[in-house]
Amino acid sequence: MSSTESINLLGLDTAALTELVGKWGGKPFRAKQLQRWIHQRGADSFDDMTDLAREFRQQLTEHCSIHAPAVSIEQRSTDGTRKWLFEVDKSNAVETVFIPEDDRGTLCISSQAGCTVACPFCSTGYQGFNRNLTTAEIIGQLWHAKRVLQADLASARVGDDAQAGPEPARVISNVVMMGMGEPLLNYDQVLGALRLMVDDNAYGLSRRRVTVSTSGVVPMIDRLGRDCPVALAVSLHAPNDALRDRLVPLNRKYPLAELLAACNRYLEFAPRDFITFEYVMLDGVNDSDDHARELIAVAQQVRCKFNLIPFNPFPQSGLKRSPAARIRLFAQRLMDAGLVVTVRKTRGDDIDAACGQLAGDVKDRTRINERNPDRAIIAIKQERG
Ligand code: SAH
Ligand code: SF4
Repeated sequence: MSSTESINLLGLDTAALTELVGKWGGKPFRAKQLQRWIHQRGADSFDDMTDLAREFRQQLTEHCSIHAPAVSIEQRSTDGTRKWLFEVDKSNAVETVFIPEDDRGTLCISSQAGCTVACPFCSTGYQGFNRNLTTAEIIGQLWHAKRVLQADLASARVGDDAQAGPEPARVISNVVMMGMGEPLLNYDQVLGALRLMVDDNAYGLSRRRVTVSTSGVVPMIDRLGRDCPVALAVSLHAPNDALRDRLVPLNRKYPLAELLAACNRYLEFAPRDFITFEYVMLDGVNDSDDHARELIAVAQQVRCKFNLIPFNPFPQSGLKRSPAARIRLFAQRLMDAGLVVTVRKTRGDDIDAACGQLAGDVKDRTRINERNPDRAIIAIKQERG
Protein backbone atom coordinates (compact mmCIF):
# COMPACT_ATOMS: atom_id res chain seq x y z
CA MET A 1 0.00 0.00 0.00
CA SER A 2 1.37 3.47 -0.85
CA SER A 3 1.83 5.93 1.98
CA THR A 4 -0.87 8.19 0.53
CA GLU A 5 -3.49 5.43 0.43
CA SER A 6 -6.03 5.62 3.22
CA ILE A 7 -6.38 2.58 5.46
CA ASN A 8 -9.98 1.40 5.84
CA LEU A 9 -10.18 0.63 9.55
CA LEU A 10 -13.16 -1.69 9.04
CA GLY A 11 -10.70 -4.26 7.72
CA LEU A 12 -8.45 -4.37 10.79
CA ASP A 13 -8.96 -6.90 13.56
CA THR A 14 -7.84 -6.12 17.10
CA ALA A 15 -4.25 -7.25 16.54
CA ALA A 16 -3.84 -5.20 13.36
CA LEU A 17 -5.48 -2.11 14.85
CA THR A 18 -3.34 -2.35 17.98
CA GLU A 19 -0.24 -2.58 15.80
CA LEU A 20 -1.26 0.47 13.77
CA VAL A 21 -2.02 2.55 16.85
CA GLY A 22 1.24 1.33 18.42
CA LYS A 23 3.21 2.70 15.45
CA TRP A 24 1.96 6.15 16.39
CA GLY A 25 2.96 5.62 20.00
CA GLY A 26 -0.58 4.79 21.16
CA LYS A 27 -1.26 2.26 23.92
CA PRO A 28 -3.41 -0.85 23.20
CA PHE A 29 -6.39 0.65 25.05
CA ARG A 30 -6.54 3.39 22.38
CA ALA A 31 -7.14 0.69 19.80
CA LYS A 32 -9.94 -0.73 21.92
CA GLN A 33 -11.51 2.71 22.29
CA LEU A 34 -11.32 3.21 18.55
CA GLN A 35 -12.78 -0.20 17.92
CA ARG A 36 -15.76 0.55 20.16
CA TRP A 37 -16.42 3.78 18.29
CA ILE A 38 -16.29 2.07 14.92
CA HIS A 39 -18.09 -1.21 15.53
CA GLN A 40 -20.33 -0.58 18.53
CA ARG A 41 -21.37 2.99 17.90
CA GLY A 42 -21.12 2.86 14.11
CA ALA A 43 -19.00 6.02 13.86
CA ASP A 44 -17.55 6.87 10.46
CA SER A 45 -16.09 10.26 11.34
CA PHE A 46 -13.04 10.66 13.58
CA ASP A 47 -14.37 14.09 14.62
CA ASP A 48 -17.15 12.36 16.54
CA MET A 49 -14.68 10.43 18.68
CA THR A 50 -14.48 13.15 21.27
CA ASP A 51 -12.76 11.12 23.97
CA LEU A 52 -9.72 10.55 21.75
CA ALA A 53 -6.88 13.09 21.88
CA ARG A 54 -7.08 15.73 19.17
CA GLU A 55 -3.62 14.81 17.85
CA PHE A 56 -4.60 11.16 17.55
CA ARG A 57 -7.78 12.09 15.71
CA GLN A 58 -5.76 14.22 13.30
CA GLN A 59 -3.46 11.31 12.56
CA LEU A 60 -6.45 9.09 11.96
CA THR A 61 -8.11 11.60 9.65
CA GLU A 62 -4.90 11.95 7.68
CA HIS A 63 -4.18 8.24 7.18
CA CYS A 64 -7.40 6.31 7.71
CA SER A 65 -11.05 6.05 6.77
CA ILE A 66 -14.08 4.01 7.82
CA HIS A 67 -16.29 2.94 4.96
CA ALA A 68 -18.50 0.00 4.02
CA PRO A 69 -19.21 -0.84 0.38
CA ALA A 70 -21.84 1.45 -1.16
CA VAL A 71 -25.46 0.29 -0.93
CA SER A 72 -27.15 0.36 -4.31
CA ILE A 73 -30.50 -1.17 -3.34
CA GLU A 74 -32.25 -1.58 -0.03
CA GLN A 75 -35.46 -3.57 0.21
CA ARG A 76 -37.90 -4.46 2.96
CA SER A 77 -40.22 -7.43 2.86
CA THR A 78 -43.72 -7.43 4.28
CA ASP A 79 -42.50 -10.01 6.84
CA GLY A 80 -39.82 -7.62 8.16
CA THR A 81 -36.93 -9.20 6.27
CA ARG A 82 -34.52 -6.62 4.87
CA LYS A 83 -32.07 -6.93 2.05
CA TRP A 84 -29.17 -4.75 0.96
CA LEU A 85 -27.26 -4.94 -2.29
CA PHE A 86 -23.69 -3.75 -1.79
CA GLU A 87 -21.58 -2.62 -4.75
CA VAL A 88 -18.17 -3.97 -3.83
CA ASP A 89 -16.65 -2.47 -6.98
CA LYS A 90 -17.84 -1.22 -10.35
CA SER A 91 -18.65 -4.67 -11.66
CA ASN A 92 -19.51 -6.72 -8.57
CA ALA A 93 -22.33 -6.68 -6.06
CA VAL A 94 -23.15 -8.89 -3.09
CA GLU A 95 -26.16 -9.21 -0.86
CA THR A 96 -26.89 -9.16 2.83
CA VAL A 97 -30.18 -10.15 4.45
CA PHE A 98 -31.57 -9.41 7.92
CA ILE A 99 -34.17 -11.87 9.16
CA PRO A 100 -36.04 -10.80 12.31
CA GLU A 101 -37.69 -13.46 14.43
CA ASP A 102 -39.30 -13.25 17.86
CA ASP A 103 -36.26 -14.44 19.76
CA ARG A 104 -33.39 -13.41 17.48
CA GLY A 105 -32.30 -11.22 14.60
CA THR A 106 -30.12 -13.00 12.08
CA LEU A 107 -27.89 -11.31 9.54
CA CYS A 108 -26.88 -13.42 6.56
CA ILE A 109 -23.71 -12.11 4.96
CA SER A 110 -21.65 -12.80 1.85
CA SER A 111 -17.98 -13.75 1.61
CA GLN A 112 -17.29 -13.76 -2.15
CA ALA A 113 -18.73 -12.21 -5.31
CA GLY A 114 -19.77 -15.40 -7.08
CA CYS A 115 -18.45 -18.83 -6.12
CA THR A 116 -16.16 -21.43 -7.69
CA VAL A 117 -17.90 -24.45 -6.23
CA ALA A 118 -20.71 -24.23 -8.79
CA CYS A 119 -23.44 -26.26 -7.10
CA PRO A 120 -26.14 -26.74 -9.74
CA PHE A 121 -28.97 -25.74 -7.36
CA CYS A 122 -27.41 -22.39 -6.35
CA SER A 123 -27.79 -19.19 -8.33
CA THR A 124 -24.56 -17.77 -6.86
CA GLY A 125 -22.78 -20.73 -8.40
CA TYR A 126 -24.29 -19.77 -11.76
CA GLN A 127 -22.53 -16.41 -11.69
CA GLY A 128 -19.14 -18.01 -11.86
CA PHE A 129 -16.43 -16.64 -9.59
CA ASN A 130 -15.68 -12.95 -9.62
CA ARG A 131 -13.55 -12.27 -6.58
CA ASN A 132 -12.95 -12.67 -2.87
CA LEU A 133 -14.29 -9.98 -0.57
CA THR A 134 -11.89 -8.24 1.78
CA THR A 135 -12.35 -8.28 5.56
CA ALA A 136 -13.56 -4.66 5.31
CA GLU A 137 -16.18 -5.65 2.73
CA ILE A 138 -17.35 -8.60 4.82
CA ILE A 139 -17.52 -6.78 8.14
CA GLY A 140 -18.82 -3.71 6.30
CA GLN A 141 -22.08 -5.60 5.66
CA LEU A 142 -22.55 -6.11 9.41
CA TRP A 143 -21.38 -2.59 10.25
CA HIS A 144 -23.88 -1.05 7.84
CA ALA A 145 -26.82 -3.28 8.79
CA LYS A 146 -26.25 -2.61 12.47
CA ARG A 147 -26.17 1.15 11.88
CA VAL A 148 -29.42 1.07 9.92
CA LEU A 149 -31.17 -1.07 12.53
CA GLN A 150 -29.87 1.11 15.39
CA ALA A 151 -31.14 4.23 13.65
CA ASP A 152 -34.51 2.57 13.05
CA LEU A 153 -34.76 1.55 16.66
CA ALA A 154 -33.96 5.07 17.84
CA SER A 155 -36.60 6.64 15.60
CA ALA A 156 -39.18 4.00 16.58
CA ARG A 157 -38.61 4.81 20.25
CA VAL A 158 -39.14 8.49 19.59
CA GLY A 159 -42.06 7.88 17.21
CA ASP A 160 -44.65 5.42 18.42
CA ASP A 161 -44.78 3.68 21.73
CA ALA A 162 -48.30 2.44 21.14
CA GLN A 163 -47.32 -0.92 19.63
CA ALA A 164 -48.56 -3.80 21.71
CA GLY A 165 -47.57 -7.45 21.83
CA PRO A 166 -44.28 -9.17 21.03
CA GLU A 167 -42.31 -7.69 18.17
CA PRO A 168 -39.76 -9.32 15.93
CA ALA A 169 -36.16 -8.61 16.90
CA ARG A 170 -34.66 -5.36 15.71
CA VAL A 171 -31.08 -6.01 16.62
CA ILE A 172 -28.56 -8.42 15.21
CA SER A 173 -28.03 -11.29 17.65
CA ASN A 174 -26.82 -13.89 15.14
CA VAL A 175 -24.64 -13.82 12.04
CA VAL A 176 -24.62 -16.60 9.47
CA MET A 177 -22.11 -16.78 6.61
CA MET A 178 -24.74 -18.16 4.28
CA GLY A 179 -24.92 -15.43 1.68
CA MET A 180 -22.96 -15.49 -1.54
CA GLY A 181 -19.72 -17.40 -1.76
CA GLU A 182 -17.83 -20.17 -0.01
CA PRO A 183 -16.39 -18.61 3.16
CA LEU A 184 -13.68 -21.22 3.63
CA LEU A 185 -12.30 -20.55 0.14
CA ASN A 186 -11.65 -16.97 1.26
CA TYR A 187 -10.20 -18.03 4.56
CA ASP A 188 -7.91 -15.21 5.68
CA GLN A 189 -10.37 -12.41 4.95
CA VAL A 190 -13.25 -14.30 6.53
CA LEU A 191 -11.15 -15.07 9.60
CA GLY A 192 -10.47 -11.34 10.12
CA ALA A 193 -14.21 -10.66 9.96
CA LEU A 194 -15.09 -13.54 12.33
CA ARG A 195 -12.58 -12.28 14.88
CA LEU A 196 -14.25 -8.89 14.87
CA MET A 197 -17.70 -10.44 15.21
CA VAL A 198 -16.76 -12.23 18.43
CA ASP A 199 -14.52 -9.49 19.87
CA ASP A 200 -16.03 -7.79 22.90
CA ASN A 201 -14.77 -4.40 21.77
CA ALA A 202 -16.32 -4.86 18.33
CA TYR A 203 -19.59 -6.82 17.92
CA GLY A 204 -19.29 -9.06 20.97
CA LEU A 205 -21.36 -11.86 19.47
CA SER A 206 -21.32 -15.24 21.15
CA ARG A 207 -19.34 -17.83 19.18
CA ARG A 208 -22.43 -19.98 19.30
CA ARG A 209 -24.34 -17.30 17.44
CA VAL A 210 -21.88 -16.89 14.59
CA THR A 211 -22.20 -19.64 12.00
CA VAL A 212 -19.92 -20.45 9.10
CA SER A 213 -21.65 -22.49 6.42
CA THR A 214 -19.37 -24.48 4.15
CA SER A 215 -19.69 -26.83 1.23
CA GLY A 216 -16.89 -28.84 2.87
CA VAL A 217 -13.39 -27.41 2.46
CA VAL A 218 -11.78 -30.01 4.72
CA PRO A 219 -8.34 -28.43 5.47
CA MET A 220 -9.95 -25.08 6.23
CA ILE A 221 -12.46 -26.67 8.62
CA ASP A 222 -9.43 -27.81 10.61
CA ARG A 223 -7.85 -24.36 10.50
CA LEU A 224 -11.08 -22.69 11.59
CA GLY A 225 -11.28 -25.02 14.57
CA ARG A 226 -7.85 -23.86 15.69
CA ASP A 227 -8.08 -20.16 14.74
CA CYS A 228 -11.61 -19.09 15.59
CA PRO A 229 -14.06 -21.86 16.44
CA VAL A 230 -17.63 -20.73 15.78
CA ALA A 231 -20.78 -22.71 15.02
CA LEU A 232 -20.37 -24.81 11.89
CA ALA A 233 -22.98 -25.67 9.28
CA VAL A 234 -22.05 -28.11 6.55
CA SER A 235 -23.92 -28.22 3.26
CA LEU A 236 -24.41 -31.94 2.96
CA HIS A 237 -27.29 -32.17 0.46
CA ALA A 238 -26.61 -35.83 -0.39
CA PRO A 239 -26.09 -39.00 1.64
CA ASN A 240 -23.52 -40.65 -0.66
CA ASP A 241 -20.52 -39.67 -2.75
CA ALA A 242 -22.08 -40.46 -6.14
CA LEU A 243 -24.91 -37.96 -5.61
CA ARG A 244 -22.85 -35.45 -3.67
CA ASP A 245 -20.22 -35.35 -6.43
CA ARG A 246 -22.97 -33.96 -8.64
CA LEU A 247 -24.76 -31.68 -6.20
CA VAL A 248 -21.69 -30.25 -4.45
CA PRO A 249 -18.81 -30.69 -6.93
CA LEU A 250 -16.22 -29.98 -4.22
CA ASN A 251 -17.06 -33.46 -2.95
CA ARG A 252 -14.77 -34.88 -5.64
CA LYS A 253 -11.87 -33.27 -3.85
CA TYR A 254 -13.08 -33.87 -0.29
CA PRO A 255 -15.39 -36.90 -0.26
CA LEU A 256 -17.89 -37.65 2.48
CA ALA A 257 -15.66 -39.83 4.66
CA GLU A 258 -13.03 -37.07 4.84
CA LEU A 259 -15.68 -34.44 5.45
CA LEU A 260 -17.30 -36.39 8.28
CA ALA A 261 -13.89 -36.97 9.88
CA ALA A 262 -13.20 -33.22 9.69
CA CYS A 263 -16.58 -32.54 11.33
CA ASN A 264 -15.62 -34.81 14.23
CA ARG A 265 -12.26 -33.09 14.63
CA TYR A 266 -14.02 -29.71 14.59
CA LEU A 267 -16.35 -30.76 17.38
CA GLU A 268 -13.38 -30.85 19.74
CA PHE A 269 -13.10 -27.07 19.39
CA ALA A 270 -16.64 -26.04 18.49
CA PRO A 271 -18.71 -23.83 20.81
CA ARG A 272 -21.70 -26.10 20.15
CA ASP A 273 -21.67 -29.84 20.59
CA PHE A 274 -23.15 -30.59 17.19
CA ILE A 275 -22.64 -29.77 13.53
CA THR A 276 -25.62 -28.50 11.57
CA PHE A 277 -26.09 -30.42 8.34
CA GLU A 278 -27.90 -28.42 5.70
CA TYR A 279 -29.87 -30.45 3.21
CA VAL A 280 -31.63 -28.77 0.29
CA MET A 281 -34.81 -30.61 -0.68
CA LEU A 282 -34.79 -31.26 -4.42
CA ASP A 283 -37.76 -33.01 -5.94
CA GLY A 284 -36.87 -36.50 -7.18
CA VAL A 285 -33.12 -35.90 -6.68
CA ASN A 286 -32.24 -36.40 -3.00
CA ASP A 287 -35.58 -36.66 -1.20
CA SER A 288 -36.62 -40.35 -1.30
CA ASP A 289 -37.06 -42.72 1.65
CA ASP A 290 -33.89 -44.51 0.51
CA HIS A 291 -31.98 -41.23 0.71
CA ALA A 292 -33.39 -40.71 4.21
CA ARG A 293 -32.18 -44.17 5.25
CA GLU A 294 -28.68 -43.52 3.90
CA LEU A 295 -28.64 -40.14 5.59
CA ILE A 296 -29.47 -41.71 8.94
CA ALA A 297 -26.40 -43.92 8.57
CA VAL A 298 -24.27 -40.85 7.79
CA ALA A 299 -25.70 -39.00 10.77
CA GLN A 300 -24.69 -41.80 13.08
CA GLN A 301 -21.05 -40.91 12.45
CA VAL A 302 -21.18 -37.28 13.66
CA ARG A 303 -23.09 -35.48 16.44
CA CYS A 304 -25.37 -33.37 14.28
CA LYS A 305 -28.68 -31.65 13.70
CA PHE A 306 -30.41 -31.35 10.36
CA ASN A 307 -31.71 -28.25 8.68
CA LEU A 308 -33.84 -29.17 5.68
CA ILE A 309 -33.99 -26.28 3.22
CA PRO A 310 -36.87 -26.23 0.74
CA PHE A 311 -35.15 -25.53 -2.59
CA ASN A 312 -35.62 -21.98 -3.85
CA PRO A 313 -36.16 -22.49 -7.54
CA PHE A 314 -34.72 -20.29 -10.27
CA PRO A 315 -35.20 -20.82 -13.99
CA GLN A 316 -31.72 -21.92 -15.13
CA SER A 317 -31.44 -24.73 -12.58
CA GLY A 318 -34.05 -27.01 -14.13
CA LEU A 319 -34.66 -28.34 -10.60
CA LYS A 320 -37.82 -28.34 -8.49
CA ARG A 321 -38.58 -28.01 -4.79
CA SER A 322 -39.75 -31.20 -3.11
CA PRO A 323 -43.48 -31.05 -2.35
CA ALA A 324 -44.30 -29.97 1.23
CA ALA A 325 -45.71 -33.41 2.08
CA ARG A 326 -42.45 -35.07 0.93
CA ILE A 327 -40.37 -32.68 3.03
CA ARG A 328 -42.55 -33.44 6.05
CA LEU A 329 -42.22 -37.19 5.52
CA PHE A 330 -38.46 -36.98 4.96
CA ALA A 331 -38.12 -34.97 8.18
CA GLN A 332 -40.27 -37.54 9.99
CA ARG A 333 -38.07 -40.41 8.80
CA LEU A 334 -35.02 -38.68 10.27
CA MET A 335 -36.84 -37.82 13.48
CA ASP A 336 -38.04 -41.40 13.86
CA ALA A 337 -34.37 -42.37 13.94
CA GLY A 338 -33.85 -39.97 16.84
CA LEU A 339 -32.34 -37.08 14.87
CA VAL A 340 -33.09 -33.42 15.54
CA VAL A 341 -34.54 -31.83 12.41
CA THR A 342 -35.77 -28.36 11.53
CA VAL A 343 -37.28 -27.32 8.23
CA ARG A 344 -36.22 -23.83 7.18
CA LYS A 345 -39.04 -21.36 6.73
CA THR A 346 -38.84 -19.36 3.56
CA ARG A 347 -38.59 -15.69 4.37
CA GLY A 348 -38.62 -12.50 2.35
CA ASP A 349 -40.13 -14.24 -0.67
CA ASP A 350 -41.40 -10.95 -2.08
CA ILE A 351 -37.87 -9.53 -2.23
CA ASP A 352 -36.03 -12.72 -3.31
CA ALA A 353 -34.16 -12.81 -0.02
CA ALA A 354 -33.94 -16.57 0.20
CA CYS A 355 -30.90 -18.83 0.08
CA GLY A 356 -29.32 -19.21 -3.31
CA GLN A 357 -31.21 -16.31 -4.83
CA LEU A 358 -28.92 -13.57 -3.67
CA ALA A 359 -27.88 -11.11 -6.38
CA GLY A 360 -28.27 -13.83 -8.95
CA ASP A 361 -30.80 -11.73 -10.81
CA VAL A 362 -28.67 -8.61 -10.66
CA LYS A 363 -25.22 -9.44 -11.91
CA ASP A 364 -24.02 -12.13 -14.20
CA ARG A 365 -20.71 -10.60 -15.08
CA THR A 366 -19.15 -13.66 -16.53
CA ARG A 367 -22.19 -14.22 -18.76
CA ILE A 368 -21.68 -17.85 -17.93
CA ASN A 369 -25.35 -18.67 -18.43
CA GLU A 370 -25.53 -17.17 -21.90
CA ARG A 371 -22.47 -19.03 -23.02
CA ASN A 372 -23.64 -22.25 -21.44
CA PRO A 373 -27.39 -22.63 -21.22
CA ASP A 374 -26.94 -26.27 -20.20
CA ARG A 375 -24.62 -25.37 -17.39
CA ALA A 376 -26.51 -27.34 -14.77
CA ILE A 377 -25.69 -30.51 -16.61
CA ILE A 378 -22.15 -29.39 -17.43
CA ALA A 379 -21.52 -28.57 -13.79
CA ILE A 380 -22.60 -32.05 -12.84
CA LYS A 381 -20.26 -33.66 -15.31
CA GLN A 382 -17.32 -31.33 -14.71
CA GLU A 383 -14.23 -32.74 -13.05
CA ARG A 384 -13.07 -30.58 -10.15
CA GLY A 385 -9.42 -30.53 -9.18
N1 SAH B 1 -21.05 -21.65 0.24
C1 SAH B 1 -21.57 -21.95 1.51
C2 SAH B 1 -22.42 -20.85 2.11
C3 SAH B 1 -23.37 -20.12 1.20
S1 SAH B 1 -24.77 -21.00 0.64
C4 SAH B 1 -22.33 -23.27 1.48
O1 SAH B 1 -22.59 -23.77 0.39
O2 SAH B 1 -22.61 -23.79 2.54
C5 SAH B 1 -25.79 -21.15 2.09
C6 SAH B 1 -26.77 -22.32 2.03
O3 SAH B 1 -27.78 -22.09 1.04
C7 SAH B 1 -26.07 -23.60 1.66
O4 SAH B 1 -26.52 -24.68 2.46
C8 SAH B 1 -26.54 -23.78 0.24
O5 SAH B 1 -26.43 -25.09 -0.17
C9 SAH B 1 -27.95 -23.26 0.28
N2 SAH B 1 -28.52 -22.95 -1.03
C10 SAH B 1 -27.89 -22.47 -2.10
N3 SAH B 1 -28.75 -22.33 -3.13
C11 SAH B 1 -29.96 -22.70 -2.67
C12 SAH B 1 -31.25 -22.74 -3.26
N4 SAH B 1 -31.48 -22.36 -4.51
N5 SAH B 1 -32.27 -23.17 -2.48
C13 SAH B 1 -32.06 -23.54 -1.21
N6 SAH B 1 -30.86 -23.51 -0.61
C14 SAH B 1 -29.82 -23.09 -1.33
FE1 SF4 C 1 -21.00 -21.82 -3.67
FE2 SF4 C 1 -22.43 -22.47 -1.48
FE3 SF4 C 1 -23.66 -21.78 -3.79
FE4 SF4 C 1 -22.38 -24.11 -3.64
S1 SF4 C 1 -24.18 -23.48 -2.45
S2 SF4 C 1 -22.25 -22.62 -5.33
S3 SF4 C 1 -20.67 -23.56 -2.32
S4 SF4 C 1 -22.38 -20.46 -2.53
